Amino acid sequence: MKLAVGHLYPDYLNIYADRGNIAVLAQRAAARGHELDVRAIGMRDPVAVGEIDLFYVGGGQDREQALVAHDLVAKAHALHQAVEQGATFLAVCGGYQLLGRSYRDVAGDELPGIGLLPLHTVAGERRMIGDVLLDCAWAGETLAGFENHAGRTLLDDGAEPLGRVVSGFGNDGSSGYEGCRHGTVYGTYLHGPLLPRNPWFADRILADALVHAGGPTELAPLPDDLERAAHGVSAERARTRGGRS
Ligand code: GLN
Repeated sequence: MKLAVGHLYPDYLNIYADRGNIAVLAQRAAARGHELDVRAIGMRDPVAVGEIDLFYVGGGQDREQALVAHDLVAKAHALHQAVEQGATFLAVCGGYQLLGRSYRDVAGDELPGIGLLPLHTVAGERRMIGDVLLDCAWAGETLAGFENHAGRTLLDDGAEPLGRVVSGFGNDGSSGYEGCRHGTVYGTYLHGPLLPRNPWFADRILADALVHAGGPTELAPLPDDLERAAHGVSAERARTRGGRS
């Protein structure tokens, strides 16, 4: 199968090697005979609703978020349509915040979001930095990564988090939860990049995107020894020195 991936603002939102997540998806798709057709979607670029199986947006500093926020709002209607039609969306940190209703940044400016996720974010004074470990009971798995954000993300009542915080700050340093998943839309603060050390989650995203592409949703298992070892190291680092609220 050919999977079309829409990479939003790769020139603005890409810190902590977030674009590495695309490389992992491409490698894992290729290992199963599928191909990723990655298209950059930048400022004033149209969104090909129906054509894109998977949207991806990385993280960035407040300055970069402010540069793209209004352009993203101009794409909101098309992105909502695409997700309603079954497209998958993975958003990391600054991108995750802009998928909510709004992000009030460190300077106190209110950046509009696109409301694809039931949440909003307000920056605090202290940055939440460190290794993170999550328990994702919905998948019977754990996620390990790295966080660095001033934003405190508040989920709406009834919203599904991505995981329970075992170690680290997570969404706001006090709720005990991290990220948000809403149908096929996934948001998280976890950088690293996230997917190399969490192969099960990479396959989850791929499988969801394959559904939209009309392809087989079963993915043949891969050896993943290195990936599991990297997960173990990252998880242990989080247990020993993850952030403490
Ligand atoms: N600028 C946002 C914050 O500080 C997001 C940071 C990021 O993407 N790492 O919370």
